Order: sequence, then structure tokens, then C-alpha cells
Amino acid sequence: MNNEAKIAYFSMEIGISYDIPTYSGGLGVLAGDTIKSCADLKIPLVAVTLISKKGYFCQDIDNDGRQIESPIDWDPSSVMMRLSKKVMIHIEGRKVYLQAWCYKVKSVTGGEIDVLYLDTDVEENSREDREITHVLYGGDDSYRLKQEMVLGIGGVRMLRALGYHIKKYHMNEGHASLLTLELLLRHKRDVESVWHEQWVWDIDTVRDLCVFTTHTPIEAGHDRFPYELVRKILGDIIPLDELKRLGGEQHLNMTLLALNLSRYVNGVAKKHGEVSKNLFPGYEIYAITNGVHSFTWTCSSFKQLYDKYIPSWANEPELFVRAETIPDSEIWEAHLSAKKDLFDYVNVSTGIELNPDILTIGFARRFTSYKRADLVFSNIERLLSVCKKGKLQIIYAGKAHPKDKPGKEIIRKIHEFSKMYNHEITVIFLKDYNVAMALKLISGVDIWLNTPLRPREASGTSGMKAAHNGVINFSILDGWWIEGHIEGVTGWSIGPKPLESSLATINDISDAEDLYTKLENIIIPMYYHDKTQWIKIMKNSIGKVAYYFNSHRMMRRYVTEAYLD
Ligand SMILES: *Cc1c(COP(=O)(O)O)cnc(C)c1O
Repeated sequence: MNNEAKIAYFSMEIGISYDIPTYSGGLGVLAGDTIKSCADLKIPLVAVTLISKKGYFCQDIDNDGRQIESPIDWDPSSVMMRLSKKVMIHIEGRKVYLQAWCYKVKSVTGGEIDVLYLDTDVEENSREDREITHVLYGGDDSYRLKQEMVLGIGGVRMLRALGYHIKKYHMNEGHASLLTLELLLRHKRDVESVWHEQWVWDIDTVRDLCVFTTHTPIEAGHDRFPYELVRKILGDIIPLDELKRLGGEQHLNMTLLALNLSRYVNGVAKKHGEVSKNLFPGYEIYAITNGVHSFTWTCSSFKQLYDKYIPSWANEPELFVRAETIPDSEIWEAHLSAKKDLFDYVNVSTGIELNPDILTIGFARRFTSYKRADLVFSNIERLLSVCKKGKLQIIYAGKAHPKDKPGKEIIRKIHEFSKMYNHEITVIFLKDYNVAMALKLISGVDIWLNTPLRPREASGTSGMKAAHNGVINFSILDGWWIEGHIEGVTGWSIGPKPLESSLATINDISDAEDLYTKLENIIIPMYYHDKTQWIKIMKNSIGKVAYYFNSHRMMRRYVTEAYLD
């Protein structure tokens, strides 16, 4: 291993490829895209996460639309190397050992990034402790806290044991905040001769080492643990009064802990930066808007097209600015080819044959209430009358967290609508959403829909993936879309301008009405009667949206604004 100082990037989940199912959604996929861009750009970084040997979960849907979950049993040894080094941390007073699996992300540029997957399933540990790194976001508070100890504290120790020289620790969301405690312990100063205390915490040194990216725009979304539990599981590595000063008086709030111990803090879109400042007054919070990895999120027909007209686009996505030079007919052919691939996939997995001439809308992401996947169905009569202007097909996919009852209920409702109105509108639900399916879906539909409740969509990234394939965004003005949207030029908005920076009153009815009106009066007529204009917006999606919302641009900003000082 070379000895160059590296950025250590910590994330509870990383979604880097289909055969490593250690992610649940956007946060993990963003981490994967971050790592791939670092490999391409040769940014010296090492990533740390958990092995999640049972994955998140595998999703099935029964005949009544109920989500059925089962563990994913995957075998890390088929895709990565187990390292022999072991480190130990104390959990509930017990010694818990951990090992790491190493996966190397290699770029065609010659860049290479190590991703370390921490694993407590080693023979020295009790059966209970061997399961700590099994299920992503599984179990109760106590299970979660143990996982966060493995990630934060165990991660820092593992990096040291493996000989990495780390110049910055980047926490991707608050799950990894406990790493700050390990750093505090390492940097405590002995000042016995000056003060009565034995040592003081060198908070400034630790702050200089840490970068924190927050992803959660609402108070309730931040991980927090009762101090009773913290004492039991974490022990007293840090005096309680000091921990409370850094992590909150009431509970140990992981976001607050990271905020207090990081020199650079950012949200993941401009609006989200503002919202976060409102949530945590007094903290300087910057914004670096997310991006997606262009090569990963471009389907094969568009890759061929870009290779022909925009050579070296993949490592220099700014060149998408030249999208206009691609002939309309070839854009349309590439799109039809992606649409056919998706429809073949739908046919194989559901037995349903979709018609490629029909305007097709895609919606896929985690199923959770604020994402409002069922907003399209909030006024069925209105929807059916819209369909009379021109036919519609809608394809859905997404998992609800096993404990998220309202999220599961939305899946059930969509299932029900799809059966009740199947003569008027074709609605498909694809089971077991994952990164491989995501690429088919975001490239093979005509319109990518996003209808979150504002301002809860910190950024969102699937619309950026769609744009890389000339698929047009039609979304609520929240997260990244506030920055990417130019009405009628790069796509279309739904609902009012985003002026608020705290949770707005829920306005399902007016948002849905705007959705129907634009579908009826603008989108359907243009799709069926003005292909030239439609293709112009497709090209703008590439030339004005993918051009900016890619992870190469994002990482260059992290390097110059967060990592260098
Ligand atoms: C990109 C992606 C997401 C994130 O989608 P959003 O619409 O940004 O929430 C979630 N899951 C998978 C599998 C993805 O590829």
C-alpha cells in the first residue's frame, strides 16, 4: 500500500454495484458514486462501511400488495478479499473483535480506491456480537448504536491498524459521528502540570480533521440515543458531562456531535443548506449539491452516442454542454432502444406487455410517506380524464423500510389502483428495486416523476440519473431540482415556488392539481404531437442538467472546499 495521506470516507451504507447489496437507497448510492469519481479523478481516499452480510432486505409483493421481506444471503468472498488484521473495541464492556473485507474500485484512468467493509462475524466474538454487522438498518436502538460504534470507533482503529495515513475524516451522514470520540481520545493533551484535570480534550485538532455532510432536513430524522443506553453500550470512554456538551443534553444526537466536531459542514443542495441552518442555528453550514457518476448512470445506447459525438465525456462530463450537436434522430433512437430494454425487462418479470408508443412515467425510490408516491392517484377521476388526452403508463419500484407501516401502505394502495383501473391506465410495480434495475428504469421511461413533500427532499439524485439518459424531469421544486429546473427548458415543475425553509403545510391537493394540469395541457400534447420540442428538452436534460449534476463536479468541490485547508 502506498503511504500517501488519504481522506477517510465513512458511510453506513455504500451502493457500489448490484452484487454488493449493502445499501438501502440514495445515501448509499451517493457514497458509491463518490468513490467511483474519486477513482476516476485519482483523489486519494479510502472508504469505510459495514459488511451487512444479510443486506438490507429482498422485497417480494404478495397478491394483496403486501411487502414481504427476506434476508439477502450474499457471500462477500466471491467479490472481495478478507484482510487478516483484527482490531478490538469494547461494547457493553465486552471485547468485540472486527475484521475488514477490502474491495478495490478500479478506474480505467488507473485510479484505485480501497473500500473497507467492517465485519464482527469473527470467531472470538459471542454469537450476538457476530451479528452486529449483519442487517443494514435492522434491529432496535441498541443494535443500531452497536453498529455505529463498529463503524465510527472500529473504523478509525482499523484504518490505523492497516497503516493508512489519514488527513481528513469525512462523515457521510451522522451514523459515523462516534469516530469523533475515538479521535478525541487519541488527541487528548496532557496538561497535568498546568491544570488540576489530568488532560483536556483537544477539540480544535479533532475539528481540523473532520468534515461532516448532513442529509436529513427534519429534526426527527436525526439519529439519537438515550444516555442510559449510551452508558450501557459505549461505557464511559468520555466523561458524560463532556459528551453531553458535544452531543446534546437530552439525548446523544449524532448530528449535533458531528456538527460540534467538524471544521467543515455541508448540506447536499443549496436549499438543504438553508434548511439545515434553520434546524441548527449558530452553525456555519455550507452546501455542495449532489451529483451522480456519469458513466455508471448512462445506459448502453446513450454511452455509444456520447462516445461518437462527445468523446471523453465520462471523465469530463462538462463536455455534455455539447449535447446539442447530437442529431435528433439519433437521440430518439437511443431512447427507444433504452425503452425497449426496460419493456423487455418488465415483460419478463411481470408478464405484462407495455406499448413503446405510449408516454411512460417512472417513479422509483425508497417508499416512505414524504415521497408521496401515490400523489398521482389523489384524484382518480381527474387522472382518468387526463388519460383521455393521451394514454399513460406508469412504472413504480421501491422498498419500504420493514418498520415503515405508512410506506408499506402506499405500496399496497398503488397495487390496488393498478388492478382497479387497469383498463384506463397501465400501472406496473416492479419488485425488489436495486441499482441494476434503477439504470433500466431511469433510462427507459419518458418522464421521471418526483413528488416529495417540501422541504424534505434534501437533494434527491435519481432525477440526475434520468437526465444523463435524456429522460425529462417532472418534479416538485425541492432539493436539487430547484437548481436544475428551468421551466419548459430542462423539464417541468410541480407546485409553487420553494420559498419556505421549514416544513410547509401539506398541500397535496394543489400539488396534485398542478401535476394533472401540466400533464394534460403541456406534457401529453407535446409528447404525442411535437417530438421536435420534446427532443429539445431531452437534449437540455443532457446539456444543462447532466452537465452539472454529476459526481465529478461534486468531488472537485469537496476537494477544494472541504478537504483542502
Ligand atoms: C439513485 C437511487 C436512489 C435514490 O433515489 P431518489 O429519487 O434520489 O430518492 C434510491 N435507490 C436506488 C437503488 C438508486 O439507484
